[in-house]
Amino acid sequence: MRDPRYDILFEPVRIGPVTTKNRFFQVPHCNGMGHAMPLAHAAMREVKAEGGWGVISTEECEIHPSSDLTPYVEARLWDDRDIPALALMCDKVHAHGALAALELSHNGPTASNLYSREVLLAPSHQPSKYGYPSQSRAMDLHDIAEYRRWHREAAVRGMKAGMDIIYVYAAHDLSLPMHFLQRRRNQRSDAYGGPLENRVRLLREVLQDTREAVGHRCAVALRFATEELLGPGGVELAEAQDIVGMLAELPDLWDVNLAAWYNDSVPSRFAREGAQEPFIDFVRKATTRPVVGVGRFTSPDTMVSQIRRGVIDLIGAARPSIADPYLPRKIEEGRVDDIRECIGCNICVSGDMTISPIRCTQNPSMGEEWRKGWHPERIAAKASEARVLVVGGGPAGLEAARALGQRGYEVHLAEARRELGGRVTREARLPGLAEWARVRDWRLGQIGKLANVSTYLDSALTAQDVLDFGADHVVIATGCHWRRDGFGRTHGLGIADFAGNPRVFTPDDLMDGRWPEGRIVVYDDDYFYTASAVAEALRLRGCEVTYLTPDDTVASWSANTLDYRHIRWRMAELGVQPCVSHVVTGYAGTTLVLEQVWSGAASSLDCDAVVVVTARLPDDALYQALKVREPEWHAAGVRSVACIGDALAPGLIAHAVYAGHRYAQELDAPRDGEVPFKRHFHHDTPMA
Ligand code: ADP
Ligand code: SF4
Repeated sequence: MRDPRYDILFEPVRIGPVTTKNRFFQVPHCNGMGHAMPLAHAAMREVKAEGGWGVISTEECEIHPSSDLTPYVEARLWDDRDIPALALMCDKVHAHGALAALELSHNGPTASNLYSREVLLAPSHQPSKYGYPSQSRAMDLHDIAEYRRWHREAAVRGMKAGMDIIYVYAAHDLSLPMHFLQRRRNQRSDAYGGPLENRVRLLREVLQDTREAVGHRCAVALRFATEELLGPGGVELAEAQDIVGMLAELPDLWDVNLAAWYNDSVPSRFAREGAQEPFIDFVRKATTRPVVGVGRFTSPDTMVSQIRRGVIDLIGAARPSIADPYLPRKIEEGRVDDIRECIGCNICVSGDMTISPIRCTQNPSMGEEWRKGWHPERIAAKASEARVLVVGGGPAGLEAARALGQRGYEVHLAEARRELGGRVTREARLPGLAEWARVRDWRLGQIGKLANVSTYLDSALTAQDVLDFGADHVVIATGCHWRRDGFGRTHGLGIADFAGNPRVFTPDDLMDGRWPEGRIVVYDDDYFYTASAVAEALRLRGCEVTYLTPDDTVASWSANTLDYRHIRWRMAELGVQPCVSHVVTGYAGTTLVLEQVWSGAASSLDCDAVVVVTARLPDDALYQALKVREPEWHAAGVRSVACIGDALAPGLIAHAVYAGHRYAQELDAPRDGEVPFKRHFHHDTPMA
């Protein structure tokens, strides 16, 4: 069944005392569930094991109350009472023949200790990384010995939980062994500071400790950052090469990547598949141990090439395993076209950042495995012979049609335009966002295999059309449009001079091919990606571009998707001028009148056009017209009309896909109570 070209991906690989059945390695990734929602966490990991990943890792695991990551929710092994929560995961992972890996971490000055109220620890005195108004204290030799004991004890607890691989963590600027390597964090003058041999000492000791504690049963992995891109204050490639040379055979497995997280999980807008290769490819030549690396790998040909060219031995993946937990199985079963490829939008990352359970744009079941019983591949068969009409072929309509079709319903999908995909098709034409079209392409591929789903293009339906069609259920997924009046978070009354002004454009104008020219101001009261992508597009077309925002920084919400720094760098590189903390108070001729948010000082800016990115309005006229005609539904054979996605309330693409999926899941399913998902209560948790 599988293409023999991909056989190499299914070879077993020995990792110290354990062997993985194939080369698919889900590297550690955060998920916002961690120790707080162990059943949900275990179910999420289990689906990946079921989908064929040979190794399934936890996220970072706190080893001691002095490494408390509150408010972030990660794994935890502070004492024996934390073992059962992780044992849950191990049992579920083992049931599918996969290995379980545990990423132990003491985060030193990158912890918070907001819950434990312990004093932060660090190689030398320094401020806490995340801006908490407190400092970390320099560890003395006793502290170092204690830290090593905590790490050993946590490794033993991990082994007792059933873990097969225990990680020593020295990556992402998030753990003490890495902090001791960094000159900017380590100014010690004892045997743990100064020359490289000294700065490596703690990492070496912890690797040895871990091997002594659990090496007879568990493999010892080292997660190591080869480059921080910070110059001599950080780990640099040349020094990383020396470190790998010094420790080459000490771990059973090298897991290598870039630091910090924003250089590792780079959004697709700023990095392509396999972008880390030039920074990590030296490792495999320096050790006989297997090497795992990441690169948002979704193409089996790229994976094979990575292995054949000797870059890595194991295909590491966080995001590709989130977007498609069944990726390995699909390759194995010769169903490569069915792979739901990650689009690199990092909405998964935003779950961790906003301290909420993980969600994924491409895979609406991610994070819902336990609490809603959703599965990325399976769905309940239809419960009636109902016919469903879906109006609008954007992400919401496409996912509703696909999932309803998978359930076996007769589905009719009508789209006004000559192309499907809605906003995804349009936004994917902005610079760097091409991969977002995968949201459309995967769904079209699946719908194409379903004989019970019919698609009609160039079909702008009216309320009369819908009633004439006479489907049992109607789903309105007609999307939204950007407002032109300046209304948004800052301007609750809009901006008077924008109404009817031909110099005012919206992102929709641009995506429809109506581009302004000359000196342009992009006005961002939305704070995510759209304004910077539009600014970039205008700059690439030769416009002089100012990015203006009432907010105190550029694209503030994009910090949650790790876009922020890349957006700033890109704007600097392209010469897009940022202007923060200013509101627009008027626009007459080519004069844009501004007011500084804090001083109230007035100023003006000469520009030929403004692109206003403030808020959107649902395109729900069809839904409202159908509501008015509700008395006619019965005679037309219509039993329900629902409005979903951006047509209900504009949001992320992830919200639209989720809404489409949820509609399909809940059709003909009786609702049970007010809370449509399971929650963790004390009696649910085995360690309570
Ligand atoms: P969402 O993100 O909620 O899926 P989109 O804006 O991406 O929303 O997609 C909505 C789609 O609905 C667009 O492709 C649009 O052309 C289509 N559409 C809007 N009104 C109608 C209509 N009356 N009949 C059919 N299709 C429509
Ligand atoms: Fe990929 Fe986006 Fe899903 Fe994350 S949320 S796994 S980046 S598609």
